[in-house]
Amino acid sequence: MAEFTMELNDEQKEVRDWLHGFAADVIRPAAAEWDEREETPWPVIQEAAKVGIYSLDFYAQQYFDPTGLGIPMAMEELFWGDAGIALSIVGTGLAAVGVLANGTEEQIGTWIPQMYGDASDVKVAAFCSSEPDAGSDVASMRTRAVYDEAKDEWVINGTKTWATNGGIANVHVVVAVVDAELGSKGHASFIIPPGTEGLSQGQKFKKHGIRASHTAEVILDSVRVPGSCLLGGKEKLDERLARAREKARQGGERVKNAAMATFEASRPAVGAMAVGTARAAYEVALDYAKTREQFGRPIIDNQGVAFQLADMRTSIDAARLLVWRASWMAVNGKPFTAAEGSMSKLFASETAKKVTAQAVQILGGNGYTREYPVERMHRDAAIYTIFEGTSEIQRLVIARTLSGMTIR
Ligand SMILES: Cc1cc2nc3c(=O)[nH]c(=O)nc-3n(C[C@H](O)[C@H](O)[C@H](O)COP(=O)(O)OP(=O)(O)OC[C@H]3O[C@@H](n4cnc5c(N)ncnc54)[C@H](O)[C@@H]3O)c2cc1C
Repeated sequence: MAEFTMELNDEQKEVRDWLHGFAADVIRPAAAEWDEREETPWPVIQEAAKVGIYSLDFYAQQYFDPTGLGIPMAMEELFWGDAGIALSIVGTGLAAVGVLANGTEEQIGTWIPQMYGDASDVKVAAFCSSEPDAGSDVASMRTRAVYDEAKDEWVINGTKTWATNGGIANVHVVVAVVDAELGSKGHASFIIPPGTEGLSQGQKFKKHGIRASHTAEVILDSVRVPGSCLLGGKEKLDERLARAREKARQGGERVKNAAMATFEASRPAVGAMAVGTARAAYEVALDYAKTREQFGRPIIDNQGVAFQLADMRTSIDAARLLVWRASWMAVNGKPFTAAEGSMSKLFASETAKKVTAQAVQILGGNGYTREYPVERMHRDAAIYTIFEGTSEIQRLVIARTLSGMTIR
């Protein structure tokens, strides 16, 4: 097990500087344009693929970094560049991790390369869990997958919503109910291969922020996929369902809300994205406060402004520490006995919202216009307290973990 450290090693520093260079030279200059266009920034993804940032190799290298700092460091730098574009670059990773975590070796080898494509023909992937009536309450999911034993095929019907890259993905990973009696324990994940009949994009959403990231409904109308598309395979699913049924018979924790716990280990990554956005806005505000003069002196010469910047930086550093701790714990298999993953996401996302609002205030009229990037960063930051579990759900997870009680 790697010791927890707050110091990046030389190799990590090199990767961080390389990513920072890409974020500063390629992502940040493109941010305003793609925010206005509200379209997937394919040329930027392609550029990231060319240099090796948009690839499974790069993602896996960071994901398996034993210090746990690889992913948060990478997320922070890319999202420092721009949240919408960075999400377009890392969104595929969310689906890839679903396959890495639950898939067989064959599934990993077959599907993950198709999620990324290559630099001459880049592809993206989507992870589809949320539904119109099942956001925080994942257990009320309605999309059904029924096994057709004669053909060894699964038939999937339902509507997914708010899916990042939904409908434009080459490969979709879809979560569906296979046993409705078991609540979220009766869910399974399926690969929907490219060009599968019955899968279509529904509404594409116009959003408040992260507008360069594509978010849409995904309609599944009698989608048929081979048995080999069930992540982990049928045998493993049957064993898992049998265990869950047994537990239910014994009156155990039958229906546990999946959103409460499933994403605990992936939440620090979202916290790191939030730290990136917060740091970006703080840096703009600091520079501005030092150069903008009113009443014959820089505005930072007023404690009212300087103390805000002091608080902003303190919160950002505190958020990063929580994120790094949780990432280190996740990678090293330390149990989250105080829901440390949720803590990191809760604190970092609330910090990003607050810090970006303070940045707008420090820039005054300029902060409110699209001439300066803090206006966009402020809109972008609002997503962090919503996706991968809202702040309220993080608090529920933390409170339940601490108390051992079913707080509602
Ligand atoms: C831009 C974007 C991208 C997304 N990408 C994906 C994706 O790729 N894949 C995917 O599957 N999903 C994705 N989502 C969906 C996202 O995860 C959900 O929006 C989120 O989980 C919240 O669900 P909801 O929107 O249904 O809100 P609701 O669950 O309806 O919540 C509404 C409000 O009620 C509060 N609330 C709900 N229950 C409780 C409770 N028990 N106690 C206290 N407060 C409560 C919430 O905190 C929130 O403030 C994305 C969403 C957005 C906006």
